[in-house]
Amino acid sequence: MAVKTTCPYCGVGCGVIASLDEDGVVTVKGDPDHPANRGRLCSKGTALGETVYLQERLLYPEIADQQVSWEQAIATVAGRFRDIIDEHGPDAVAFYVSGQLLTEDYYVANKLMKGFIGSANIDTNSRLCMSSAVAGYKRAFGEDVMPCSYDDIDRAKMIVITGSNMAWCHPVIFQRIVRAKKANPDLFVVVIDPRKTQTASVADLHLALEPGSDSVLFNGLLAHLDASDERNELFTENFTLGMTAALEAARKSAPDVASVARQCGLSDSDVAEFFRMFARTERVLTFYSQGINQSSSAVDKVNSIINCHLLTGRIGRPGMGPFSLTGQPNAMGGREVGGLANQLAAHMELSNPIHRERLQRFWQSPVMSDKDGLKAVDLFRAVDAGKVKAVWIMATNPVVSMPEADAVKAALEKCEFVVVSDCVRETDTVRLADVRLPALTWGEKDGTVTNSERYISRTRRFLPLPGQARPDWWIISEVARQMGFGEQFSYRSAHDIFREHAALSGFENDGERSFDISALADISWEEYGAFNPVQWPVNAENPQGKARIYGDGRFNTEDGKARFIAVTPRPPVRKPDREFPFVLNTGRVRDQWHTMTRTGMSPRLSQHIPEPYIEMHPEDATAQQLNEDDLVAVSSSRGEIYVRVKIGKGQRKGSVFVPMHWNGVFSGKGRVNTLVEANVDPISGQPESKHSVARIAPCQPRWHGFILTRRNRLNLEYSTYWTRSRATGLWRYEIAGRETPDDWADRARVLLSDENDADANWVEFFDKHQNHYRAARFIGEQLESCVFIGASAVLPERDWLVSLFMKEKLEPAERQSLLTGKPPLDHVDVGRIVCACFNVGEKTIKKAIAEHGLKTPEQIGELLQAGTNCGSCIPELREFLATP
Ligand code: SF4
Repeated sequence: MAVKTTCPYCGVGCGVIASLDEDGVVTVKGDPDHPANRGRLCSKGTALGETVYLQERLLYPEIADQQVSWEQAIATVAGRFRDIIDEHGPDAVAFYVSGQLLTEDYYVANKLMKGFIGSANIDTNSRLCMSSAVAGYKRAFGEDVMPCSYDDIDRAKMIVITGSNMAWCHPVIFQRIVRAKKANPDLFVVVIDPRKTQTASVADLHLALEPGSDSVLFNGLLAHLDASDERNELFTENFTLGMTAALEAARKSAPDVASVARQCGLSDSDVAEFFRMFARTERVLTFYSQGINQSSSAVDKVNSIINCHLLTGRIGRPGMGPFSLTGQPNAMGGREVGGLANQLAAHMELSNPIHRERLQRFWQSPVMSDKDGLKAVDLFRAVDAGKVKAVWIMATNPVVSMPEADAVKAALEKCEFVVVSDCVRETDTVRLADVRLPALTWGEKDGTVTNSERYISRTRRFLPLPGQARPDWWIISEVARQMGFGEQFSYRSAHDIFREHAALSGFENDGERSFDISALADISWEEYGAFNPVQWPVNAENPQGKARIYGDGRFNTEDGKARFIAVTPRPPVRKPDREFPFVLNTGRVRDQWHTMTRTGMSPRLSQHIPEPYIEMHPEDATAQQLNEDDLVAVSSSRGEIYVRVKIGKGQRKGSVFVPMHWNGVFSGKGRVNTLVEANVDPISGQPESKHSVARIAPCQPRWHGFILTRRNRLNLEYSTYWTRSRATGLWRYEIAGRETPDDWADRARVLLSDENDADANWVEFFDKHQNHYRAARFIGEQLESCVFIGASAVLPERDWLVSLFMKEKLEPAERQSLLTGKPPLDHVDVGRIVCACFNVGEKTIKKAIAEHGLKTPEQIGELLQAGTNCGSCIPELREFLATP
């Protein structure tokens, strides 16, 4: 059975065809009919089938760690929320939700909080991701509207990618740009990023600007466009307001090329080239993402970009416009239903009394919140202060993803009542819940999501519902019913909710709001089942949807005119100093998603980067006397983590990068958000996750080691450092410590003992002098675990050892080589896996390049297949080709 659904990861929103065979194995391929990806998937989408197993799932409701019935769980949640609201008022409770929710789930959560509980204390992890883009669009256009389409990539003559490592974070879109450039070598691509990431591999011009100086650059561009007479007079005079003030601010802060170059740390010639190309190219598409949004002056940065498009009138037409890339699969759906604490549903405004009254009438609700709720950072601070006494967290892991993550953890530990709905049994956040509610996940959920380009797509169920897990909308509606709001939450399906959501979007709209999908308000059950992706608005005027918005120059402000915003650039809140000399930037890696609860379960995706790391410039590493793979402690005023050193020339001197993914289930101390200060943009409330300050010190463990084991969880408290990653049929633990145990054999037995001890047999080798310990534990003839400890980080190759776990029985020679840690002579070490689709390692690729004189990724692909499926590894292949 093949079902068309949508990838649950990034905002590209790729269509997926998923099949479930008789043995329960799930295979996926890209949906050739989906407009977002046209059949392509990246490495994460391709590996979705490896993530659907039930071992780590939360399958039953729990209260205080005890399994309970749904009736008990719902009654407890509704009762405690009701009691706290009665005693302390509606603002004493909060929901913290997620761009992982489907639109229907999101709609119901927002309705319950704002229209029935009567507080706007519902915020979402999208606050950390794109709330600055929302605020920027609203300031400029009067509504949160992304005006472009992915199709514009094929029509643009110049593409600017700023603050986005798109090659890793939105790979299918990046590959589309690569193909567009191949088809049209004159397409001019500019990448603006302090780091030279894989995305820069497509760039004609890479501007490695000073972190935080983006507004100076775009203000300089605005002033230059005006000075060069590139202003679109017809457009600015008829369709905009505020240009004079914006130009004054731009000229004042960034008067000329030399000034911009100096402030941004760039060469005059590079700045001049960027300005010249932008000025002379009509079809310019500007992509921006977290590098812009995660800043204490992010909304101004967004508007400094939009200003340039307004001045030139480059908006709403093919091949041009300011394009915010959303991080999550349904960040846009959340925006549509008002999932942020400062919005109402259907793009209406909390601050607008007409909107509040209209929505209350539509919902027939007893109350309507009339002031903004708490944004994410303030929400958890209010939990800490005891002002919010009950919080319900849905489908997100704030103990890992929020800045000042340890403070969030402490706040939840002391919160009166914490409810978590999740599909996973153990996350850093689920561990702290008083009540755990088992939710459905990808493959089980039914509903819709909206991608970055406004395409609404169906997410469809193709797996049976496991245990007692239920849809989020069902759980929320049951609690609402128990709280006494049954009539307005009597949904029987996601379809019922979608119809209401669509009807609300058109309710007394009259063209006021672009988000209008009222043509779908009467969609039948069958039509909803067969629903094909459509790009909103979908209304009487645009029954088939609309690719571009604002082409007519009519915006969603009261007077219909777009607004320029005068931007005065502000530096990041924290500057490096003697105590914390490095700028710390956080972000994503290619094969992991968010806090790894799903992608961390895939052996294929765990191979590319199995451990958390810090990337440093070579000169910084030398100055700190650090080498590749050394363990270091990275600390800020808020906390400390342990990660491995990676040395990368693409890193700017004085700046370091640490991935955001590692959590407390996959690492001992790898949660980078424990370091990030919660400095937020004053308008959007989005934290400055791209610019903290930190120091780095060697970790200096006395021993290093690793464990390969079929066991899922080990107690590694004695290790200074540990990480856990998935391999096929087993888990890999990398460990290191400062304290050496008296007896390694005893330690290994304590660690790996279980109910199979009677059948277990051990082989061991110990060299006390060199502090080497090696052991293998067999159950019968089969290898169950192996442990390797040494004084240095140079330890046997893991992949070969992993392969021994596949065997039913090890031959004597294999047992022998197991303990010596030396693979047989005919074994080929392929190195770190670079191509996750075809399992091709770095050493294999480099050897092939050297031996066959390969010059292009295509030649590598022909020989080794690497890069020929999803293409996510092609930028790395280019790096290998470029390195002699
Ligand atoms: Fe999923 Fe990758 Fe497509 Fe993003 S680009 S939606 S992660 S397949």
